[in-house]
Amino acid sequence: MADAYVLVLNASYEPLQRVSLRHAIKMLVREVAVIEEASDAHFGPFPVPKVLRLVRYVVMRWAHQRTRLCTKAAVKLRDGMCGYCGGHAETVDHILPRSRGGALTWENAVAACIKCNHRKADRTPSEAGMTLLVTPAEPRYSPA
Ligand SMILES: [Zn+2]
Repeated sequence: MADAYVLVLNASYEPLQRVSLRHAIKMLVREVAVIEEASDAHFGPFPVPKVLRLVRYVVMRWAHQRTRLCTKAAVKLRDGMCGYCGGHAETVDHILPRSRGGALTWENAVAACIKCNHRKADRTPSEAGMTLLVTPAEPRYSPA
């Protein structure tokens, strides 16, 4: 349970980041966040949260910097679904395949399910006859 991660949403429901369960509990104790979604388990007096939402809208410069760094985890968080079929995102696909020099960037990476990832393989979406449901771009969290 100690390595469980909790998704933190801004007050406007935009995903901000993932924090450790320990950090999430501290946020609940300090009453800066409320539970949006919880599991059945308990951690002390609290249900173990899966998703927290900040009570007040926070513009976090560091959060911008964090999200601008393109990682596979950040791409999955940005897309929240397979960019080809809308299914469960289990991996990250390089739109221009890595074998052809495609890099892990916000524009070249899209979350994908294993099935679509395998189907596309070392091809571009058009070569594979697949259509992207999303236009991958760097996430921008503008104030609500
Ligand atoms: Zn898919």
